[in-house]
Amino acid sequence: MTHNRGQFIAGQALDGDDAPEAVFNPASGAEIAQLASASRVQVDAAVAAAERAFPVWSRMPPKERARRMLLIADRIEALADDFALLEMANCGKPLGTARAVDVGNTVDVFRFYAGAARTIPGIPAGEYRPGHTSMLRRDPLGVCVGIAPWNYPLMMASWKIAPVIAAGNTVVLKPSEHTPLTALKLAEVCAEFLPEGVVNVVTGGGASVGARLVAHPRVRMVSLTGDVSTGRKILEAVAPTIKRTHFELGGKAPVIVLADADIAAAVEAIAEGGYYNAGQDCTAACRVYAHASLYDRLVADLQTAIAGITMGDPAAAGTTLGPLITARQRDRVDGFVARAAADTPAEVVSGGFAPDGPGFFYAPTLIAGARHSDEIVQKEVFGPVVSVTRFDADAQALAWANDCEYGLASSVWTRDVGKAAAFAAQLEYGVTWINTHSANVTEMPHGGVKASGYGSDLSVYSLEHYMTTRHVMIKH
Ligand code: NAD
Repeated sequence: MTHNRGQFIAGQALDGDDAPEAVFNPASGAEIAQLASASRVQVDAAVAAAERAFPVWSRMPPKERARRMLLIADRIEALADDFALLEMANCGKPLGTARAVDVGNTVDVFRFYAGAARTIPGIPAGEYRPGHTSMLRRDPLGVCVGIAPWNYPLMMASWKIAPVIAAGNTVVLKPSEHTPLTALKLAEVCAEFLPEGVVNVVTGGGASVGARLVAHPRVRMVSLTGDVSTGRKILEAVAPTIKRTHFELGGKAPVIVLADADIAAAVEAIAEGGYYNAGQDCTAACRVYAHASLYDRLVADLQTAIAGITMGDPAAAGTTLGPLITARQRDRVDGFVARAAADTPAEVVSGGFAPDGPGFFYAPTLIAGARHSDEIVQKEVFGPVVSVTRFDADAQALAWANDCEYGLASSVWTRDVGKAAAFAAQLEYGVTWINTHSANVTEMPHGGVKASGYGSDLSVYSLEHYMTTRHVMIKH
């Protein structure tokens, strides 16, 4: 084990003073660490450390903050194998993707925000009232709290740290209690290059450590990636202290395959984007609406493609599907599939079972003939399960796609550029992909509408959320 200390506060790796949380390897089911959670005193200490660091860090010129963030990126890159192995051990991610995607994106995010910190845009200073000069200030907020989920622990840590510190804030991050290891390692790397207390990580449960952080009077902002219900709790918890919030709260991405679509391309994207990270992805291509003219072929071709998914040892070359994060999550996914098979006209045409053997694996599952109103089409499963629903008219597909509490990601498959543009204009989603699904770039925002939350991760828009906009006026 690389880590047996669960907290990183004021530049020090420390043991927690509260109840232990067991950390598992989901591919084997074996316990790999016991981390004592942060106590109330330690949560306060982490916030105090971040508050002490704020005047030092926020007054550092952007150029110097950027230089240090570039060094952090270089160090993460140099340690890429260590980070990838740790992420694989704690999440069951196939090693190749952990290295290329999870570590690769993290490095890119630190580099992007290092540069972005030096190019903050704004309204020019000027005489907007005769005899007065107005100028705009973009200042950091102070101590920000990041609360992260378990599906992309390192990437989510970077999304909750890099834009925050680039803007001059300091941060206390709470990773998921299931996946704290790479965030703790990231905090160590950050501490090599940053003043003491700029980045702190405390670990433990959401209702204990998370709730204490969120309600803390010295914290100025809370940024969560997590469940809708967690977002609601945080909104209630911040009401007394009026903190700024930033939420990324899940999704149920519609994949609309129109009659003129390139079926092979759609099948390839669904077979990848529906099962990537074992479907534990808020943008997963999980809710397919297929035009009646190509429905049968799409389902048949998807079955063939799914048969090519290799589930198993994440360390083995060629593995494309790892386990789910916990036995509980696997059982939850199985419950969705069992209810779909039992209570609806839907049919499980691929998978639909947890294989024998150790670990929390679930076979890649395809559910054909689901009705739009079925639970499997409406609710976020967060597992390797894709449903396909037949439609006859494009307007029906659009209405069904938007008839969902979530609004994070969507895709449309068509060769007609006019239809593509019309769908993109009417879909109520933070991202609409045309003839592709799941591709993120650091320069573009990732965020949702409706119950998927507000505020963006990635891009300069994320940076904006972590800054104030202030007016200074000077009378001549
Ligand atoms: P979760 O909401 O249960 O937990 C997320 C984090 O919130 C964890 O660190 C948890 O400890 C903490 N938390 C829980 N209760 C809290 C409270 N009362 N106060 C403060 N913190 C609290 O979510 P999860 O199970 O870890 O992750 C899966 C969910 O996250 C899914 O719904 C998924 O869609 C969503 N997600 C969304 C995005 C996105 O970008 N929109 C990305 C990844 C995951």
